[in-house]
Amino acid sequence: MRVLILGGTAEARTLATLLAARPGLSVISSLAGRTSAPLLPPGEVRIGGFGGPAGLAGWLRASRVDAVVDATHPFAAVMSASAARACDDVGVPLLVLRRPGWTERDGDDWRRVPSIAAAAAVLPGTGRRALLTTGRQTLAAFAGLDEVWFLVRAVEPPEPPVPARMTLLLERGPFTIEGEEALLRAHRIDVVVTKDSGSPAVAAKLDAARLRRLPVVMVDRPPVSPGVPSVATARDAVAWVTGLPGAGVSPSGSGGA
Ligand code: NAP
Repeated sequence: MRVLILGGTAEARTLATLLAARPGLSVISSLAGRTSAPLLPPGEVRIGGFGGPAGLAGWLRASRVDAVVDATHPFAAVMSASAARACDDVGVPLLVLRRPGWTERDGDDWRRVPSIAAAAAVLPGTGRRALLTTGRQTLAAFAGLDEVWFLVRAVEPPEPPVPARMTLLLERGPFTIEGEEALLRAHRIDVVVTKDSGSPAVAAKLDAARLRRLPVVMVDRPPVSPGVPSVATARDAVAWVTGLPGAGVSPSGSGGA
């Protein structure tokens, strides 16, 4: 059985590791190719877009893929919609592996917004010195906010348009609470702007914001494609794959034909 994992997340790498250890399964991970030094999963990897739903459908047929796990980032909505459409067209089973979002705790002051544009709209009324961690592809939405100074943290350098008043920090998590608190203090940050990625590796900024009593502008996730089953952990995704007809392996890993 051949399984395609749409990746770019820690969960996708964990799933590739777990599935690669199973006899009878051949796993290929797909990355968009956005980062210059991506963290690679074990096993076969392909890099680059497929060319929309039609391109992916053709690729699934040509590569004889039997099942797809969409383990992309919760905000990679275009890829997820493309996967739902292509798998439906080709008749290949699709599972979404999506970690849960973050939940507000006592002492948090979160302003939930439905989109990046909405985050930019509420920001000037929320703070003047923002830690912005929504990703380099979102900076254009904040470019017109001249009254706000930004500390932008991203993995890769952004391309213009970017905010006029900004300092760039090129860093990849995981981050610690101590480090995040020191960062907020050193730059006199008065608001944190983030997407609800749910990633444990970058959750320390929320703890630090709580400790410093700062508001957080939290961008909600886009909805998942209707009718596509989803799980929250790589282990549950393994159970789904190994439970498919033709997988030839038992969910407990005891092997099979
Ligand atoms: P997106 O807007 O949903 O995707 C745009 C296009 O990029 C897709 O239509 C597809 O091109 C290509 N693509 C995306 N993911 C791909 C994959 N895993 N394999 C092959 N092609 C892929 O996605 P995005 O927000 O730019 O994210 C790109 C990648 O970075 C994703 O794989 C995601 O898991 C990862 N990532 C995203 C974020 C985020 O905040 N968005 C954060 C961390 C990691 P075609 O239409 O040509 O197939």
